[in-house]
Amino acid sequence: MNILVTGAAGFIGYHLSRRFALAGHRVIGMDNMVTGSDANVRALQALPGFEFIRHDIEQPLALPGPIDRIFNFACPASPADFDTKAVEIMLTCSIGVKNLLDLARAKNALFLQASTSECYGDPPPEHHPQKETYRGNVNTLGPRAPYDEGKRFAEAMTMTYHRMHGLHTRIVRIFNTYGPHMRADDGRALPNFISQALSGKPLTIHGDGSQTRSFCYVDDLVEAICRTADSDVVDPINIGNDSEITIKEVAQAVIESCGSKSPLIFTDRPMNDPERRRPDLSRAREALGWQPSMPWREGFKRTIAYFRANLAGMRP
Ligand code: NAD
Ligand code: UDP
Repeated sequence: MNILVTGAAGFIGYHLSRRFALAGHRVIGMDNMVTGSDANVRALQALPGFEFIRHDIEQPLALPGPIDRIFNFACPASPADFDTKAVEIMLTCSIGVKNLLDLARAKNALFLQASTSECYGDPPPEHHPQKETYRGNVNTLGPRAPYDEGKRFAEAMTMTYHRMHGLHTRIVRIFNTYGPHMRADDGRALPNFISQALSGKPLTIHGDGSQTRSFCYVDDLVEAICRTADSDVVDPINIGNDSEITIKEVAQAVIESCGSKSPLIFTDRPMNDPERRRPDLSRAREALGWQPSMPWREGFKRTIAYFRANLAGMRP
């Protein structure tokens, strides 16, 4: 197949592009490098069948030749970027998504949109774990709104193209995913904790660390994305790991796995930081015959090994 992966220089886009290239597909990786990594691009360029195009999806795109599938993973994803890149995020999720949907129509390609658990906002206890049918509790005015509302808009736009134009579309709602090839300075919990632990600095816990997340290893995610593309599920589908842990436990496990003596420090909690997060994976299990297989302790170890080997050469 001819596959376009946007956000290919980023964490998930790198892994998806690699998987498709190794399977023998022709892969066009597109990225504007706003949060992407040169090292990821270089690693992909070593694979046969991979071609990189530097392009901002907010700008119209006309690609020659056939495209069978478009995987849209272009969007800054770390809450550390939600302030400084707020407008870019909103435009990427609106104009950017429209540009790609138009390209998908022109090429008669399947379009898969990387959505997020952030569409659920901060759910009340009766919506824990989160099912796809839950419509969310998002503060439209808060600092996370550019991302959360951007992603909700992107879902609406994707569904509209499906309904109006019969476009083949898929929407995956991704829960916290981690693994090798994240940037050390990405700002999300795991890259922060691992780079802090490996360099002997204090681990910065926001609040008291009792908030929870459910961390999915990237290989599990990539498998589920491939199965979603091959399925006929048009409705959104949760992808993640349903084993839930507190952020303080994550920090402690990272310190232990790194053999680090770093202390924990407790800092202010960002506004609207969700309290609990766990996917209900029933739809993914039934429709895709998939479930996550990597236990977080093992996944953390693999990610730490990558950071240990690469930290010195990573972009500051
Ligand atoms: P990332 O920041 O590592 O990758 C995003 C990539 O998109 C970067 O390389 C960036 O340069 C590129 N990009 C951003 N705006 C662009 C634009 N306008 N044009 C072209 N390229 C652009 O983040 P990630 O964790 O790999 O996330 C990838 C996608 O998955 C995002 O859409 C994100 O919202 C979604 N997602 C990720 C997670 C997660 O836990 N990693 C969870 C939910 C959703
Ligand atoms: N967090 C933290 N310290 C950090 C980075 C993040 O305590 O250095 C917290 C953050 O406030 C949130 C959780 O860890 O409660 C997960 O944050 P992340 O940015 O990884 O993803 P989110 O789920 O918020 O999108």
